[in-house]
Amino acid sequence: METLLFANGSLVDGTGAPPVRGDVLARGDRIGQVGKIKADGDCRRIDCTGLVIAPGFIDIHSHSDLQALANRREKSNQGVTTEVVGNCGFSPYPSGADPKLLREYAQPILMGEGGWGWKSAEGYLEAAAGQSRLVNVLSLAGHGSLRVAVAGFRQDALSKAEMDLAEQMLDQCLSEGAAGFTTGLMYAPGSSAPAEEIVRLCKVVARRGKIYATHMRSYAWQLLEALDEQIRIARESGCRIQISHLQAVGQANWHKQEQALEKIENARRQGVDIGFDIYPYTAGSTMLTQFLPQSALAGGLDRMVALLKDPQKRKRIAAEVRQMTAQRWIDVLVTSVATEANRPIVGKNVGEIAEMRKQDPVETVLDLLIEEKDGIIIVSFNQSEDNLRKLLTHPLCSVGSDGFYVKGRPHPRLYGTFPALLGRVVREKRWMNLEQAVHKITGRPAERFGIKDRGRLAAGCAADITVFDANTVMGPGTYEKPEQAPAGIRMVFRNGRQVTPA
Ligand SMILES: [Zn+2]
Repeated sequence: METLLFANGSLVDGTGAPPVRGDVLARGDRIGQVGKIKADGDCRRIDCTGLVIAPGFIDIHSHSDLQALANRREKSNQGVTTEVVGNCGFSPYPSGADPKLLREYAQPILMGEGGWGWKSAEGYLEAAAGQSRLVNVLSLAGHGSLRVAVAGFRQDALSKAEMDLAEQMLDQCLSEGAAGFTTGLMYAPGSSAPAEEIVRLCKVVARRGKIYATHMRSYAWQLLEALDEQIRIARESGCRIQISHLQAVGQANWHKQEQALEKIENARRQGVDIGFDIYPYTAGSTMLTQFLPQSALAGGLDRMVALLKDPQKRKRIAAEVRQMTAQRWIDVLVTSVATEANRPIVGKNVGEIAEMRKQDPVETVLDLLIEEKDGIIIVSFNQSEDNLRKLLTHPLCSVGSDGFYVKGRPHPRLYGTFPALLGRVVREKRWMNLEQAVHKITGRPAERFGIKDRGRLAAGCAADITVFDANTVMGPGTYEKPEQAPAGIRMVFRNGRQVTPA
């Protein structure tokens, strides 16, 4: 492998320290030297005058478990060299006797081609090591996947034998190299797990010295109760905890965010090793099935359709949906559908679609679920700009994409999270300085996930390096036109090899 000299750039080293002018020498896959370097004969000199040299970015919250293996370029183009996958309970392993169940559960988020699914972490990690050429993959074992492997779509408490098996499978995944454990407690069937089940599994995580990341039971009406539950789980199990995509959803809940941050700070002061992350956008994205009480998904999608077609049961579900939903329907945008017939509603909000159908919006949602099952993905304008600022600038916050692939329009975060942070949040809005922002996408996530040799520009660390122009960097994608390449990301190296531009 060649020796690279990144010369005369502004070094933003990932620790949060202010930029200094200097050079970085990479020998093979490692950083050899950082500072003022006299070039020794045989090396490729990369002039970085006027540019920032930073550690490769770490996407702390990604759903590209399968696209990393397929070498999709969306993240690499943003300067990302490491992806932390397996989030929100969805990992492509472990599969039980019938891998079709795992695929039915996780396909709407993982969006893989063909017959994917691995028995345990080892198989997936081997595939990642062998196939992923653009990014390093850190994989977390998903609770939803684990539960489907053990008990299918059933939503009652696990039996003693099932619980033992779940512990054993998780322990195996962690021993094989999974970097931690995640829950998605708003997604069936993981949503039906009592706290005690999660405590037992988190004790396995604690024993293995790994981390637990959670998509909590609620980010809206029950945000504070959900957070209390997670902090209790961390306390009782003794595991380190990461609250995934923290936010207060719906205007009526915006005021709770301050209290949520106080709870996290208090827990931290009392010795809980807690952090959180968020993407730099006010809108989120998920499946339309999230608007249902998750009990409607017990038994799979065909049963869900049957429930929604039964007038009595539909009435009860509709009442629950009305009560649960914290967003306004005009703030919920359909961005992806499965059927050709519904293509015309892509890009319209649920309020507009209801008007077109001369229907109540909740009835529209239920009809769409009958027509599309789990095929609809939405973008939802959940939180306020002011709250987003408080989250992003908080010292315990890391920034990740939460990006996932769809058939249709993705959320712009899939294409632009990191350049949007550096361009819109840092340069335009001036919410924080460049070194703070870079720390939130390099050194901080590396520290949270125990990645010892990445996320910093330091001798001995892996030669993951992103060179960008701080004056032009931007994620230009919009909700209408999300699939736009970032601006200002000049070059990306992973383990000393150039990956971007290709
Ligand atoms: Zn999530």
